[in-house]
Amino acid sequence: MNLRGPRERLNDKIGLGIWDYTNEEEETGKVYPIGYCMGWIEFSASNLKVKPDDLPVVKQELELRKKHKDKYHTHGHKDAKEAADCFRRYLIDNEISVGEYPPDAPCHECNLETCRMVFVCSWPYFRLCDKHSLGLFLEKNLVIDPVIWSSIT
Ligand SMILES: [Zn+2]
Ligand SMILES: [Zn+2]
Repeated sequence: MNLRGPRERLNDKIGLGIWDYTNEEEETGKVYPIGYCMGWIEFSASNLKVKPDDLPVVKQELELRKKHKDKYHTHGHKDAKEAADCFRRYLIDNEISVGEYPPDAPCHECNLETCRMVFVCSWPYFRLCDKHSLGLFLEKNLVIDPVIWSSIT
């Protein structure tokens, strides 16, 4: 299990007033910044040791990642809320996909039955029929609380 959330940088356990969005590996206790807060790291298909079958998908993902290169940073944020907003932006830019997820269930916006599902980090998140703009919907409904939360990924 991982514990994600905004954490303040520490110097000998004294808060420095600089916040990053982070992950903590529960088993090892290792804490590190994730999303745009991790800073830009140059990945390529070859140094990631990708299997030939996965190459097209990975190349597509690397291209998408590169599109947002300028948003990666190591300067941190002034508070937990700003760090949470940063991770929210990262998710919207990089981790959203739309697919079919039967059976039909009510659309979040208009209650019309739909198979269309919005995935965040590959996890089923919201039903949304094709009458609504995904971008507007996410701006309104995707909320990242500025607290530490457990994730199953
Ligand atoms: Zn950030
Ligand atoms: Zn709808």
